Amino acid sequence: MLRIIDRIIKFPLLKNDRKPIIPLSKEQEQAIQEFLNKVERGEYKLVDYPCICGNSEDILIAEKDRYGIPLNIYLCKNCGTIRSGKVLDRESLIKFYSDDYSKIYVSTSPDVRFKSQFIRGKDFVRLCKDCGILDKIENVFEIGCGAGGILAAFKEIGLKVSGCDLDREHLEYGISRGLNLLYGDYRKVLHSLGSKQDCIILSHVLEHFLDPINELEEIAKKIKVNGYILIQVPSLYSHQFNPILTFQNAHTIQFFDPEFLSFTLENLGFRVVCLELTPQLTIIGQKRIRKNKHISFNKNKEEIMKIQYRLKRAYISTVPVQVYTKLQKYPTLRKILSKVFHKIKN
Ligand SMILES: [Zn+2]
Repeated sequence: MLRIIDRIIKFPLLKNDRKPIIPLSKEQEQAIQEFLNKVERGEYKLVDYPCICGNSEDILIAEKDRYGIPLNIYLCKNCGTIRSGKVLDRESLIKFYSDDYSKIYVSTSPDVRFKSQFIRGKDFVRLCKDCGILDKIENVFEIGCGAGGILAAFKEIGLKVSGCDLDREHLEYGISRGLNLLYGDYRKVLHSLGSKQDCIILSHVLEHFLDPINELEEIAKKIKVNGYILIQVPSLYSHQFNPILTFQNAHTIQFFDPEFLSFTLENLGFRVVCLELTPQLTIIGQKRIRKNKHISFNKNKEEIMKIQYRLKRAYISTVPVQVYTKLQKYPTLRKILSKVFHKIKN
């Protein structure tokens, strides 16, 4: 099977034809065009992004993202990390999160986002309890908290919570629900809070960092000794999760695997308390006294081959979505197909 898939499906999996592979609303189409205009006018700057392992040998996986935005996505032949070949520079990224992010990606309203975050927050509370660390945490800070639903789940059980984000609308919603949420870059916000935290959460944030290892090192300084860091990222290693459908312009920068994350945390002086692989990859690390920093991410050829195979298999599962998207102009045909799919599924 592996050989057949390998022979039939070739990289790059997505060619740069500017066509989206997922259905988009009119508002999303407009927001994407606005984003492209800003890049064209030079308002947003894209810069080359080499792999964090320092290697420069890559396989080109895709030439566009799921929205049809031109972008080279690479698989590093050395460490197996998947990343965007170009990213928005720090200044553009901040503007992007303030002005474009919600319009393109989160077509949900703040209250809908809050609810889904709250479910995730409950799951984090459960995980902390299962690991036996919940009673050791008094305060929680979340970087990129959005509407604050995750924090609300921790507040519900009596913990002190705070968080920051760059989306004012979503923050305001959380504030109206009684949460202590602050606007701004996390470095400045954490600095202004002064005291160190028992637990810092990064839920679907690390994959968007420009310099994840150094940024994690800085975040670690804001955690008390014996305190915790809880990280959740999308995982290439989950069956329900499809990396191809999550390729998103210069915004999702890289995909991590469990070994990579464990190794990074250990090298930054954390002890891995738990690692859970559901559709997402969740890891909790406990801060210890600093160890030597020695990070090396080499993988052998066989492991890289396995990742390639996984990507090709993931691509196959996007085909029905792509067909469905192409039928956007034929709503009746789409309705019939959707009914047929539904019948087959059930
Ligand atoms: Zn690499």
